[in-house]
Amino acid sequence: MKEIKVYNVNLPLKVPFETSFGIQYSRNALIIEYSDVYNAYGESVTDDVPGYSYEDNITALHVIKDYLIEILKETLDPSEFVEKAKKIKGHNMAKSAIETMLWDLESKKKGISLKDLIGGEKEKIESGISIGILPMEKLIDTVKKSIDLGYKRIKLKIKPGWDIEVLREIRMNFGDIPLTVDANQAYEGKENKVLELDKFELLMIEQPLAENNMVGLSRIQKKLSTPICLDESIHSVKDAKTMLELDAGRIINLKIGRVGGLKESLEIVNFCGNNKIPLWCGGMLETGIGRAFNVILQSRMEFNMPGDTSPSDRYFEKDIIKKPFTMDKGYIEVPNGNGIGVEPDLEFIKKVGKIIFQQRL
Ligand SMILES: [Mg+2]
Repeated sequence: MKEIKVYNVNLPLKVPFETSFGIQYSRNALIIEYSDVYNAYGESVTDDVPGYSYEDNITALHVIKDYLIEILKETLDPSEFVEKAKKIKGHNMAKSAIETMLWDLESKKKGISLKDLIGGEKEKIESGISIGILPMEKLIDTVKKSIDLGYKRIKLKIKPGWDIEVLREIRMNFGDIPLTVDANQAYEGKENKVLELDKFELLMIEQPLAENNMVGLSRIQKKLSTPICLDESIHSVKDAKTMLELDAGRIINLKIGRVGGLKESLEIVNFCGNNKIPLWCGGMLETGIGRAFNVILQSRMEFNMPGDTSPSDRYFEKDIIKKPFTMDKGYIEVPNGNGIGVEPDLEFIKKVGKIIFQQRL
Protein backbone atom coordinates (compact mmCIF):
# COMPACT_ATOMS: atom_id res chain seq x y z
CA MET A 1 0.00 0.00 0.00
CA LYS A 2 1.60 3.23 -1.16
CA GLU A 3 1.11 6.03 1.30
CA ILE A 4 2.41 9.54 1.99
CA LYS A 5 2.59 11.04 5.46
CA VAL A 6 3.64 14.53 6.42
CA TYR A 7 4.93 14.93 9.96
CA ASN A 8 5.25 18.31 11.59
CA VAL A 9 8.25 18.09 13.90
CA ASN A 10 9.30 20.81 16.29
CA LEU A 11 12.87 20.79 17.61
CA PRO A 12 14.05 23.62 19.87
CA LEU A 13 17.39 25.12 18.78
CA LYS A 14 20.17 25.00 21.36
CA VAL A 15 20.94 28.64 20.55
CA PRO A 16 18.39 30.97 18.90
CA PHE A 17 19.53 31.83 15.37
CA GLU A 18 19.33 35.52 14.43
CA THR A 19 19.77 36.83 10.90
CA SER A 20 18.97 40.16 9.24
CA PHE A 21 15.36 38.99 8.82
CA GLY A 22 14.56 37.73 12.30
CA ILE A 23 15.22 35.33 15.18
CA GLN A 24 14.46 31.62 15.03
CA TYR A 25 14.04 29.68 18.29
CA SER A 26 13.17 26.25 16.97
CA ARG A 27 13.20 24.22 13.78
CA ASN A 28 9.62 23.53 12.88
CA ALA A 29 10.05 21.05 10.05
CA LEU A 30 7.76 19.19 7.68
CA ILE A 31 9.05 15.66 7.17
CA ILE A 32 7.72 13.61 4.26
CA GLU A 33 7.46 9.86 4.61
CA TYR A 34 6.63 7.58 1.70
CA SER A 35 5.87 4.00 2.60
CA ASP A 36 5.45 0.91 0.48
CA VAL A 37 8.05 -1.81 -0.17
CA TYR A 38 10.62 0.84 0.67
CA ASN A 39 10.28 3.79 3.01
CA ALA A 40 11.64 7.06 1.68
CA TYR A 41 12.00 10.49 3.25
CA GLY A 42 12.19 14.16 2.41
CA GLU A 43 12.13 17.44 4.31
CA SER A 44 10.61 20.79 3.48
CA VAL A 45 13.10 23.50 4.39
CA THR A 46 10.26 25.94 5.01
CA ASP A 47 9.53 27.10 8.54
CA ASP A 48 6.80 29.08 10.33
CA VAL A 49 7.71 32.47 8.92
CA PRO A 50 8.19 33.41 5.25
CA GLY A 51 11.36 35.39 6.12
CA TYR A 52 13.94 33.76 3.87
CA SER A 53 11.50 33.36 0.97
CA TYR A 54 7.76 33.69 0.41
CA GLU A 55 7.19 30.03 1.29
CA ASP A 56 6.34 28.81 4.77
CA ASN A 57 5.04 25.57 6.27
CA ILE A 58 1.42 26.41 5.56
CA THR A 59 2.00 27.22 1.87
CA ALA A 60 4.20 24.13 1.52
CA LEU A 61 1.58 21.85 3.01
CA HIS A 62 -1.10 23.41 0.80
CA VAL A 63 0.94 22.87 -2.38
CA ILE A 64 1.85 19.32 -1.37
CA LYS A 65 -1.62 18.13 -0.47
CA ASP A 66 -3.62 20.07 -3.07
CA TYR A 67 -1.31 19.62 -6.09
CA LEU A 68 1.82 17.54 -5.69
CA ILE A 69 0.05 14.44 -4.35
CA GLU A 70 -1.93 14.27 -7.59
CA ILE A 71 1.33 14.23 -9.55
CA LEU A 72 2.70 11.48 -7.28
CA LYS A 73 -0.28 9.35 -8.24
CA GLU A 74 0.94 9.60 -11.86
CA THR A 75 4.66 9.06 -11.36
CA LEU A 76 7.27 8.23 -8.74
CA ASP A 77 10.17 9.00 -11.07
CA PRO A 78 12.03 12.11 -9.84
CA SER A 79 12.70 13.57 -13.31
CA GLU A 80 9.14 12.99 -14.51
CA PHE A 81 7.84 14.49 -11.29
CA VAL A 82 9.90 17.65 -11.90
CA GLU A 83 8.52 17.96 -15.44
CA LYS A 84 4.91 17.49 -14.35
CA ALA A 85 5.32 19.83 -11.37
CA LYS A 86 6.30 22.66 -13.71
CA LYS A 87 2.62 23.49 -14.14
CA ILE A 88 2.71 24.70 -10.52
CA LYS A 89 4.50 28.04 -10.52
CA GLY A 90 7.19 28.64 -7.91
CA HIS A 91 6.91 26.88 -4.52
CA ASN A 92 10.33 25.31 -4.97
CA MET A 93 10.65 24.27 -1.33
CA ALA A 94 7.37 22.36 -1.37
CA LYS A 95 8.37 20.66 -4.63
CA SER A 96 11.81 19.86 -3.28
CA ALA A 97 10.38 18.16 -0.17
CA ILE A 98 8.63 15.64 -2.43
CA GLU A 99 11.27 15.48 -5.16
CA THR A 100 14.12 14.71 -2.75
CA MET A 101 12.01 11.92 -1.20
CA LEU A 102 11.67 10.46 -4.71
CA TRP A 103 15.47 10.44 -5.13
CA ASP A 104 15.79 8.56 -1.84
CA LEU A 105 13.18 6.11 -3.10
CA GLU A 106 14.83 5.76 -6.52
CA SER A 107 18.21 4.88 -5.05
CA LYS A 108 16.64 2.45 -2.54
CA LYS A 109 14.81 0.70 -5.40
CA LYS A 110 18.12 0.36 -7.23
CA GLY A 111 19.80 -0.90 -4.04
CA ILE A 112 22.47 1.81 -4.13
CA SER A 113 23.35 4.91 -2.18
CA LEU A 114 22.05 8.29 -3.30
CA LYS A 115 25.68 9.35 -3.33
CA ASP A 116 26.39 6.80 -6.07
CA LEU A 117 23.22 7.66 -7.94
CA ILE A 118 24.23 11.33 -8.27
CA GLY A 119 27.89 10.62 -9.02
CA GLY A 120 29.28 11.73 -5.67
CA GLU A 121 32.92 10.86 -5.06
CA LYS A 122 33.94 12.41 -1.74
CA GLU A 123 33.73 10.25 1.37
CA LYS A 124 33.72 13.25 3.68
CA ILE A 125 32.90 16.92 3.21
CA GLU A 126 34.39 20.09 4.67
CA SER A 127 32.22 21.78 7.23
CA GLY A 128 31.94 25.52 7.77
CA ILE A 129 29.88 27.24 10.42
CA SER A 130 27.26 29.93 10.00
CA ILE A 131 27.01 32.04 13.14
CA GLY A 132 23.93 34.17 13.72
CA ILE A 133 23.86 37.66 15.17
CA LEU A 134 24.92 37.47 18.83
CA PRO A 135 26.06 39.92 21.51
CA MET A 136 29.76 40.69 20.83
CA GLU A 137 31.18 38.77 23.78
CA LYS A 138 29.13 35.70 22.95
CA LEU A 139 30.07 36.01 19.27
CA ILE A 140 33.79 36.08 20.04
CA ASP A 141 33.37 33.08 22.30
CA THR A 142 31.43 31.19 19.59
CA VAL A 143 34.05 31.97 16.93
CA LYS A 144 36.79 30.75 19.27
CA LYS A 145 34.94 27.51 20.02
CA SER A 146 34.23 26.98 16.31
CA ILE A 147 37.91 27.32 15.42
CA ASP A 148 38.78 24.90 18.22
CA LEU A 149 36.21 22.40 16.89
CA GLY A 150 37.99 22.45 13.54
CA TYR A 151 35.44 24.23 11.35
CA LYS A 152 37.05 25.03 8.00
CA ARG A 153 35.48 28.45 7.58
CA ILE A 154 33.61 30.95 9.74
CA LYS A 155 30.59 32.79 8.38
CA LEU A 156 28.97 35.67 10.24
CA LYS A 157 25.47 36.95 9.70
CA ILE A 158 25.56 40.74 9.32
CA LYS A 159 23.19 43.65 8.73
CA PRO A 160 23.69 47.41 8.41
CA GLY A 161 24.93 48.62 11.80
CA TRP A 162 26.16 45.14 12.74
CA ASP A 163 29.07 44.81 10.36
CA ILE A 164 32.18 47.04 10.40
CA GLU A 165 32.72 46.95 14.14
CA VAL A 166 32.05 43.22 14.27
CA LEU A 167 34.51 42.43 11.50
CA ARG A 168 37.16 44.69 13.02
CA GLU A 169 36.73 42.91 16.35
CA ILE A 170 36.87 39.41 14.82
CA ARG A 171 39.93 40.21 12.69
CA MET A 172 41.63 41.76 15.74
CA ASN A 173 40.96 38.70 17.90
CA PHE A 174 41.51 35.94 15.37
CA GLY A 175 43.69 37.40 12.60
CA ASP A 176 43.66 35.88 9.17
CA ILE A 177 41.02 33.12 9.62
CA PRO A 178 38.91 32.05 6.59
CA LEU A 179 36.02 34.46 7.13
CA THR A 180 32.85 35.30 5.20
CA VAL A 181 29.70 37.31 5.85
CA ASP A 182 26.06 36.84 4.88
CA ALA A 183 23.73 39.84 4.72
CA ASN A 184 20.56 38.04 3.57
CA GLN A 185 19.73 40.99 1.26
CA ALA A 186 19.88 43.60 4.06
CA TYR A 187 21.94 46.20 2.14
CA GLU A 188 19.35 46.78 -0.57
CA GLY A 189 19.33 50.55 -1.14
CA LYS A 190 22.63 50.86 0.76
CA GLU A 191 25.12 49.78 -1.90
CA ASN A 192 27.92 52.05 -0.64
CA LYS A 193 27.83 50.34 2.74
CA VAL A 194 28.73 47.04 1.05
CA LEU A 195 31.85 48.61 -0.46
CA GLU A 196 33.10 49.36 3.07
CA LEU A 197 33.34 45.60 3.71
CA ASP A 198 35.99 45.17 1.02
CA LYS A 199 38.89 45.99 3.34
CA PHE A 200 38.34 42.98 5.61
CA GLU A 201 39.76 40.46 3.11
CA LEU A 202 36.69 38.25 3.28
CA LEU A 203 36.42 35.08 1.21
CA MET A 204 33.12 36.46 -0.07
CA ILE A 205 30.18 38.72 0.73
CA GLU A 206 26.98 36.69 0.52
CA GLN A 207 23.76 38.15 -0.88
CA PRO A 208 24.23 41.81 0.05
CA LEU A 209 21.31 43.10 -2.08
CA ALA A 210 17.75 41.99 -2.82
CA GLU A 211 17.46 38.66 -4.59
CA ASN A 212 15.95 40.21 -7.74
CA ASN A 213 18.47 43.06 -7.98
CA MET A 214 20.96 41.36 -10.30
CA VAL A 215 21.79 44.72 -11.91
CA GLY A 216 22.68 46.27 -8.56
CA LEU A 217 24.70 43.21 -7.59
CA SER A 218 26.60 43.45 -10.86
CA ARG A 219 27.24 47.15 -10.25
CA ILE A 220 28.80 46.56 -6.83
CA GLN A 221 30.66 43.40 -7.88
CA LYS A 222 32.53 45.52 -10.42
CA LYS A 223 33.66 47.88 -7.64
CA LEU A 224 34.55 45.19 -5.11
CA SER A 225 37.66 43.08 -5.03
CA THR A 226 35.85 40.63 -2.70
CA PRO A 227 33.69 38.14 -4.65
CA ILE A 228 29.95 38.33 -4.12
CA CYS A 229 28.28 35.00 -3.42
CA LEU A 230 24.65 34.58 -4.44
CA ASP A 231 22.21 32.62 -2.31
CA GLU A 232 18.59 33.87 -2.44
CA SER A 233 19.03 35.08 -6.07
CA ILE A 234 19.61 31.58 -7.44
CA HIS A 235 16.35 29.68 -8.00
CA SER A 236 17.46 27.75 -11.06
CA VAL A 237 20.37 27.11 -13.39
CA LYS A 238 18.98 29.99 -15.45
CA ASP A 239 19.70 32.38 -12.58
CA ALA A 240 23.23 31.00 -12.34
CA LYS A 241 23.67 31.79 -16.06
CA THR A 242 22.38 35.34 -15.48
CA MET A 243 24.82 35.76 -12.61
CA LEU A 244 27.72 34.73 -14.82
CA GLU A 245 26.66 36.84 -17.78
CA LEU A 246 26.11 40.00 -15.71
CA ASP A 247 29.02 39.36 -13.34
CA ALA A 248 26.48 39.79 -10.53
CA GLY A 249 28.40 37.38 -8.33
CA ARG A 250 31.35 35.01 -8.61
CA ILE A 251 30.46 32.24 -6.15
CA ILE A 252 27.25 30.23 -5.64
CA ASN A 253 25.71 28.99 -2.44
CA LEU A 254 23.41 26.17 -3.52
CA LYS A 255 20.39 25.14 -1.47
CA ILE A 256 18.40 22.16 -2.68
CA GLY A 257 15.06 23.47 -1.41
CA ARG A 258 15.50 26.91 -2.92
CA VAL A 259 15.99 25.53 -6.45
CA GLY A 260 13.16 22.97 -6.28
CA GLY A 261 15.10 19.78 -5.64
CA LEU A 262 18.07 17.64 -6.55
CA LYS A 263 17.55 17.57 -10.32
CA GLU A 264 17.90 21.34 -10.65
CA SER A 265 20.69 21.28 -8.03
CA LEU A 266 22.67 18.85 -10.18
CA GLU A 267 22.23 21.08 -13.22
CA ILE A 268 23.67 23.97 -11.22
CA VAL A 269 26.50 21.74 -9.99
CA ASN A 270 27.35 20.82 -13.61
CA PHE A 271 27.08 24.43 -14.74
CA CYS A 272 29.43 25.60 -11.98
CA GLY A 273 31.89 22.82 -12.78
CA ASN A 274 31.88 23.62 -16.50
CA ASN A 275 32.32 27.34 -15.89
CA LYS A 276 34.76 27.12 -12.98
CA ILE A 277 32.39 28.90 -10.60
CA PRO A 278 33.30 28.19 -6.96
CA LEU A 279 30.44 26.32 -5.30
CA TRP A 280 29.34 25.41 -1.80
CA CYS A 281 26.16 24.23 -0.12
CA GLY A 282 24.08 26.30 2.28
CA GLY A 283 21.75 25.19 5.03
CA MET A 284 18.28 25.91 6.38
CA LEU A 285 18.75 24.48 9.91
CA GLU A 286 17.60 21.11 8.54
CA THR A 287 16.98 18.06 10.70
CA GLY A 288 19.01 14.95 9.95
CA ILE A 289 16.79 14.11 6.96
CA GLY A 290 17.37 17.35 5.06
CA ARG A 291 20.96 17.43 6.31
CA ALA A 292 21.59 14.01 4.72
CA PHE A 293 20.63 15.38 1.29
CA ASN A 294 22.95 18.38 1.81
CA VAL A 295 25.88 16.20 2.84
CA ILE A 296 25.34 13.75 -0.03
CA LEU A 297 25.06 16.52 -2.63
CA GLN A 298 28.39 17.91 -1.43
CA SER A 299 30.09 14.60 -2.20
CA ARG A 300 30.22 15.86 -5.79
CA MET A 301 33.71 17.13 -6.64
CA GLU A 302 32.40 20.46 -7.94
CA PHE A 303 31.85 21.59 -4.33
CA ASN A 304 35.18 23.24 -3.72
CA MET A 305 34.51 25.47 -0.72
CA PRO A 306 33.39 24.46 2.80
CA GLY A 307 29.59 24.61 3.12
CA ASP A 308 27.28 25.61 5.96
CA THR A 309 26.62 22.00 6.93
CA SER A 310 27.32 21.55 10.63
CA PRO A 311 26.91 18.36 12.67
CA SER A 312 23.46 17.76 14.22
CA ASP A 313 24.54 18.67 17.75
CA ARG A 314 25.35 22.23 16.69
CA TYR A 315 21.60 22.81 16.52
CA PHE A 316 19.69 20.15 18.42
CA GLU A 317 19.95 18.24 21.69
CA LYS A 318 18.67 15.23 19.79
CA ASP A 319 18.19 14.83 16.06
CA ILE A 320 15.33 12.87 14.46
CA ILE A 321 17.68 10.33 12.87
CA LYS A 322 19.09 7.36 14.75
CA LYS A 323 22.72 8.14 14.02
CA PRO A 324 23.12 11.92 14.03
CA PHE A 325 25.74 13.66 11.89
CA THR A 326 29.01 14.24 13.69
CA MET A 327 32.09 16.22 12.76
CA ASP A 328 35.69 15.13 13.04
CA LYS A 329 38.36 17.82 12.60
CA GLY A 330 36.04 19.86 10.42
CA TYR A 331 34.85 16.96 8.25
CA ILE A 332 31.46 15.23 8.06
CA GLU A 333 31.21 11.72 6.67
CA VAL A 334 28.97 11.16 3.65
CA PRO A 335 26.35 8.42 4.29
CA ASN A 336 26.94 5.44 2.06
CA GLY A 337 24.00 3.15 2.89
CA ASN A 338 21.11 2.65 0.49
CA GLY A 339 19.26 5.84 -0.40
CA ILE A 340 20.09 8.72 1.92
CA GLY A 341 21.71 6.23 4.27
CA VAL A 342 20.18 7.60 7.47
CA GLU A 343 17.42 6.00 9.48
CA PRO A 344 14.71 8.21 10.96
CA ASP A 345 13.96 7.69 14.65
CA LEU A 346 10.21 7.30 14.20
CA GLU A 347 9.54 6.91 17.89
CA PHE A 348 11.23 10.21 18.59
CA ILE A 349 9.53 11.84 15.59
CA LYS A 350 6.16 10.84 17.02
CA LYS A 351 7.21 12.28 20.38
CA VAL A 352 8.26 15.70 19.06
CA GLY A 353 5.81 15.90 16.21
CA LYS A 354 2.54 14.76 14.76
CA ILE A 355 1.11 13.57 11.47
CA ILE A 356 -0.60 16.52 9.82
CA PHE A 357 -1.41 14.87 6.50
CA GLN A 358 -1.77 11.29 5.37
CA GLN A 359 -2.98 9.90 2.07
CA ARG A 360 -2.84 6.71 0.06
CA LEU A 361 -1.49 7.02 -3.44
MG1 LIG B 1 22.72 32.93 2.89
